[in-house]
Amino acid sequence: MRSPYTLDNPPPDEPPSEVLVPSLWRVQARWWKRHTPALDQQGAKHPVCGHCGQSWPCHSWACWDGQLGQAVHQSQTPEPDAGEARVSAAPPSRAIAFGGALAAGLAQT
Ligand SMILES: [Zn+2]
Repeated sequence: MRSPYTLDNPPPDEPPSEVLVPSLWRVQARWWKRHTPALDQQGAKHPVCGHCGQSWPCHSWACWDGQLGQAVHQSQTPEPDAGEARVSAAPPSRAIAFGGALAAGLAQT
């Protein structure tokens, strides 16, 4: 998954507040920035990575970018809690049966 970040808009050193694992973010953002073209390469037609020397976007940058993309998208998934709470709130059928027997007993006396 592509991250929303570009060379003109690189990922921040400090993770966005919605990121689940901030310590991981710092590592990912550092490597993302390492695997970018050197300054004199950024205007070039075929830039190469300033870290590994592969034509850019290099394989490593693509990997880190994918991880950053996942980190920012993960936090947008809705929590499934609401649905589960509704199921467990349903009364157990045994309680209904017991209540019925009690009512029947009372009716006999
Ligand atoms: Zn690289």
